[in-house]
Amino acid sequence: MKKEIFIGNVGIGGDHPVSVQSMTSTKTGDSTATLAQIKELYFAGCDIVRVSVPEKNVIDSFKKIVKESPLPVIADIHFSTSLAIESIIAGAKGLRINPGNIGSRDKLKSIIDTASIYGIPIRIGVNSGSIEKKYFNKNRSKAEMMVNSIMDKVEMFEELGFTNIKLSLKSSNVKETIEANRIIDKKCNYPIHLGVTEAGTLYSGTIKSSIGIGSLLADGIGNTIRVSLTDDPVKEVKVAREILKVLGLRDEGVELISCPTCSRVSVDLISIVKNFEKRIEEEKISKNIKVAIMGCEVNGPGEAKDADIGIAFSQKKGFIFRKGKRIKETDPKNAISTLIDIIKNMP
Ligand code: SF4
Repeated sequence: MKKEIFIGNVGIGGDHPVSVQSMTSTKTGDSTATLAQIKELYFAGCDIVRVSVPEKNVIDSFKKIVKESPLPVIADIHFSTSLAIESIIAGAKGLRINPGNIGSRDKLKSIIDTASIYGIPIRIGVNSGSIEKKYFNKNRSKAEMMVNSIMDKVEMFEELGFTNIKLSLKSSNVKETIEANRIIDKKCNYPIHLGVTEAGTLYSGTIKSSIGIGSLLADGIGNTIRVSLTDDPVKEVKVAREILKVLGLRDEGVELISCPTCSRVSVDLISIVKNFEKRIEEEKISKNIKVAIMGCEVNGPGEAKDADIGIAFSQKKGFIFRKGKRIKETDPKNAISTLIDIIKNMP
């Protein structure tokens, strides 16, 4: 079991569930917009939010964000010791730094000393693009070089007496990310933050993250995750939660099973499924149930008999079934509303 740390009231490592992180994309100087985005992330199921602190003149705004945020806020800092320290004093519940770009040991020590006083953890992150030059070695894989680079910093933190840390090794290359995290998981006991960096758009990023983060989680590696997408961060949270859900690591919310359709389908199943997802979101249904939406009554109920509730369609009717048994018939046009009403009344 990994060491337990806390970002505000969210435990990471120990026997805590894998938590979901995201990062705001608004200007930190605009506290109203940033807080509005954090609230959206909170409602989407995010556990921890990271906010970048790029310059001194956003510190006041950052302070307000931390104070009013419904989620614990991690300050994301690059290059600047003073910004790291000021962010901690402003109330950050965690710090994300790349020690390689902070500079000297003395600078790092002053950040560590402040984090110790305020009792907040630090994430030490090394990305494939930020491996320190001294660790480049043509006989080593990129993943091994990333691990050597981070281990150097871990040892430095330990020498300075600070172990309230979590580690992240990210690459935009999925295989490198997996290899690096497998190695670091064996090497030390600190909780691990997983992510595939610069993963891309909703489509490619979801695939890369599902494979990279998902395969590590399936091996029992990783304590907190961030899906990176070139898109609305709310979508990052949704993808992250879906990854955790399919692996059985978090069970809040509806798990949807739907068929790929074939020539037997006689309704517009794609629109029906999209409508269902929209309604579930709008009505904030968070029951832990499996719902099946199947294209035909011939194979649908049988193929989805593990579902708690489902619907299968003929040309003229929707047949609602529970645990494989038919319980109601409905007009296809009203099928989703009827299904939602039944779900709402389920225990
Ligand atoms: Fe085809 Fe019916 Fe299977 Fe859907 S449930 S893929 S429509 S056979």
